[in-house]
Amino acid sequence: WKDEIAPWVWHYRGSNEDSFKISDNRVKAAIVILVRNSELKNMVYTIKQFEARFNSRYMYPYVFLNDVPFTSKFMNAIAEHTKNNVTFALLPKDHWETPSFVDKKIFDQSRKQLESIGVAYGGLESYRHMCRFYSGFFHKHPVLQDIEYYWRIEPGVDYLCDLNYDPFRFMKDNKKVYAFVISIKEIPTTIPSLWEHTLRFAVQNNITSNFFKFFAGRDSQYNLCHFWSNFEIASFDFLRSTNYENYFNYLDSTKNFFYERWGDAPVHSLAAGLFLNYEDIHFFNDIGYTHDGCTHCTQYNETDKNETPKNLTTPDLDSSGTCPCPPNVQSIDNAPFSCLQRFKT
Ligand code: GDP
Ligand code: MN
Repeated sequence: WKDEIAPWVWHYRGSNEDSFKISDNRVKAAIVILVRNSELKNMVYTIKQFEARFNSRYMYPYVFLNDVPFTSKFMNAIAEHTKNNVTFALLPKDHWETPSFVDKKIFDQSRKQLESIGVAYGGLESYRHMCRFYSGFFHKHPVLQDIEYYWRIEPGVDYLCDLNYDPFRFMKDNKKVYAFVISIKEIPTTIPSLWEHTLRFAVQNNITSNFFKFFAGRDSQYNLCHFWSNFEIASFDFLRSTNYENYFNYLDSTKNFFYERWGDAPVHSLAAGLFLNYEDIHFFNDIGYTHDGCTHCTQYNETDKNETPKNLTTPDLDSSGTCPCPPNVQSIDNAPFSCLQRFKT
């Protein structure tokens, strides 16, 4: 059934909930997706795979977010593809608008300028709202307040391999805070001043961390490495911490989510650099994944197993070697712009 619990929230109770009357080993977690009504086809495509590979068995709830109300066509179509709980919610207005401290003229000029030099989404206002929302606001959404961990997915992505353990449980049991599958270099023209501002924030707040060096290249410049945030599994405690809040507020005060085109991926990554340690971060090698033609193929083998630190519970994999790269696909991990080797060493 479905039930309108507030004018901006729709909730479908999945029939799977009935399986949890006796025991429920689930973490307080949700699959979180910001998506447009127009992306329904790609969304269904991804949900089908996500259900088949993982979530029809692990039964985590979905939370769909949108800056405009979801159509009933969208909601009904999604609910047809899962027996899990699904929530559809609207964003608070102030999480998706251009703040009054942003100068409209400068904003318009910089959009034109970035568009003219061919920066991806350089001219788009909505893309900036999306990046700023994922950087500063989604962890504050009212429907996510009792959720501890999130898994971000997107319309159109592929989940290539069966996952036979619960990554949320893995994160929690091993005290992991942030996890990724793809790490590559950012487009420099989107973030001209992000590094400089991050350093300034770190100095002003006396921040030291053993992980920040992952991002430092030659001459203390940013090496552009970041974790792709179209896939993220992370603890909301990280984003809800005072440290993170201060970092976001500082970045937001520069107005460069608008005057430049800062992505939420480098923002989350540099925050991990500032506030987390290497051990807090996990690379999900065993999640095969494609976003926009970039694929991480699982390469789980005996050597990797030996590299797993002894104090970690090794995930219970049954698929070692059974989920190869799709035909004619090269894993992005081998590309010169991949940062995975740097992370591993
Ligand atoms: P890319 O991955 O950087 O190429 O950016 P995408 O276009 O895939 O956008 C990232 C995510 O934000 C996707 O899940 C989109 O569906 C969502 N998104 C982007 N722009 C909007 C928007 O204007 N409104 C809504 N509701 N979702 C958006
Ligand atoms: Mn995308």
